[in-house]
Amino acid sequence: MRRKLAAGNWKMNGIGANLSELADLASPENIDVLICPPTPLVSRAAQANAKIAIGGQDCHTAQNGAHTGDVSAAMLADAGATYVLTGHSERRTDHGESNAIVAAKTAAAWDQNLIAVICIGETLAQREAGETLAVIADQLTHSTPNAATGDNTVIAYEPVWAIGTGLVPTLEQIAEVHDFIRAELANRFGTETAESMRLLYGGSVKPSNAEYIFATSNVDGALVGGASLKASDFNGIISALS
Ligand code: PGA
Repeated sequence: MRRKLAAGNWKMNGIGANLSELADLASPENIDVLICPPTPLVSRAAQANAKIAIGGQDCHTAQNGAHTGDVSAAMLADAGATYVLTGHSERRTDHGESNAIVAAKTAAAWDQNLIAVICIGETLAQREAGETLAVIADQLTHSTPNAATGDNTVIAYEPVWAIGTGLVPTLEQIAEVHDFIRAELANRFGTETAESMRLLYGGSVKPSNAEYIFATSNVDGALVGGASLKASDFNGIISALS
């Protein structure tokens, strides 16, 4: 059985008061709760609530060296992280991260025993051009190294047009992509591995729509941006999942 995962991505937010929000997060026995704060907050966040997991939002392909401004998986692990996001659409857009870079970052995360949450998703133009499944197949294949398992990898489907916009795909649209991802994983890794890998939906998940989204086929949890910043909001999502 796949354990459900409620994952929060604080992005470049969270100085000050938000850290106290961590102590107020619910942590039901039957699901995993993860918060990915900005890097400078990782070690403090890892001390704030022993019942939730902490992750980074990105890592370098190398573990150390002359890479000004970057952070390695080794450093995240040392600070107390057990997960890291790779290939978030904001990294792909703002930092030009290709699938090959995302795959190398994912492998670097695994080297440090971090669970990689590999993010994929189509833009609105790609959806309107009928390219969604082709884009998903391409990103999934080339961002996910061959050594992926249900223990080291989570896949997050985040349509770019749904991130931070309040727009949410229909249940049919979410189910179509999640079922497709599961089938692609089964083709490549075999049914057992594919069935053990958690698939998250991300993009404008809120307490008010969480139950609706979690009823969808092959949705094992959510990757949540805005609604993860306040414990009161994120607890609504955690409770819809548990
Ligand atoms: P959002 O962000 O929940 O604010 O739409 C999701 C994400 O980018 O992970």
